[in-house]
Amino acid sequence: MPAVTVTDITALPRIATAGPGAVPRPVRTVTSAPSGFEGEGFPVRRAFAGVPLEHLDPFVHMDQMGEVEYAPGEPKGTAWHPHRGFETVTYMLDGIMEHADSNGGGGVITNGDTQWMTAGGGILHIEAPPEHLVVSGGLFHGVQLWVNLPRSRKWSPPRYQDIRAGEVALLASDDGGVLVRVIAGSVGDQHGPGSTHTPITIAHATASPGAQLTLPWRPDFNALVYVLAGEGTVGVEQRPIRKGQLAVFGPGDTISVAAVTGQASHEPELDVLVLGGRPIREPVAWMGPFVMNTRVEVVQAFEDFQAGRLGTIPAVHNTPTEVVESSRSEQG
Ligand code: MN
Repeated sequence: MPAVTVTDITALPRIATAGPGAVPRPVRTVTSAPSGFEGEGFPVRRAFAGVPLEHLDPFVHMDQMGEVEYAPGEPKGTAWHPHRGFETVTYMLDGIMEHADSNGGGGVITNGDTQWMTAGGGILHIEAPPEHLVVSGGLFHGVQLWVNLPRSRKWSPPRYQDIRAGEVALLASDDGGVLVRVIAGSVGDQHGPGSTHTPITIAHATASPGAQLTLPWRPDFNALVYVLAGEGTVGVEQRPIRKGQLAVFGPGDTISVAAVTGQASHEPELDVLVLGGRPIREPVAWMGPFVMNTRVEVVQAFEDFQAGRLGTIPAVHNTPTEVVESSRSEQG
């Protein structure tokens, strides 16, 4: 799991220890992500399945994509598809993903890069491994998070941000055993590069066996920890958690995570995503690729998509830009 690594963790700024009055957040639930398939058939874990939307708010959905080792010719992506009413945040740990959208946004992301797409009022996009990776096969591992937009921002113009691995803020735990990469928002006084419509924090932490992390966390944010790899515990109550599980924390000032001493040999460290944001506290009407406030708005989104009002698929060079038909049978 490369993402961003450092040779000397101890040279990084340390996360300040919590003050004496800081309240540790209790663990409310630990749930296990079921496995499924997305797009043309790439394996995912549905990280938030079974968790009430009120506990996830401002987040809606998250898939851990892979980790999968593809054979040559096997890598799969998605077809062109629409979104409206939220933002997709895609963080690649291993492998390469190409993205293109009907607003002209797009690019290639790889080890530790993030792409941030604001669908806003509507967009079409495609996400797929590049041709050379399809040919060669290889390791593929990433995360896609859906961040809701408040009613006042659902109709924002679409936007695309590329966040390169080298731009994330790096921190070390007090014991020097945990590397924390701040992708968006802030941890203490360290700020990540992602620019967000609603205040959120996204961090990826890698903990050595036996290491412990206590993060200051804004009391007005919710708090979620999802395990990408390895085994550990969450909370001061040291509740066990492992790969594919999500912890939802209750109110308080700090989040704690620890890696167990004996990790499996193929996953020697604990890797977690730590997520939080200020809840939007509006009704959510979500179906398929659309996250709106009301059922009527979801129906409208499907109609607008069918009518071509969410954008058009860009023309591919040297291919027809309108329907070409042949009336002559080639048979016999
Ligand atoms: Mn999509």
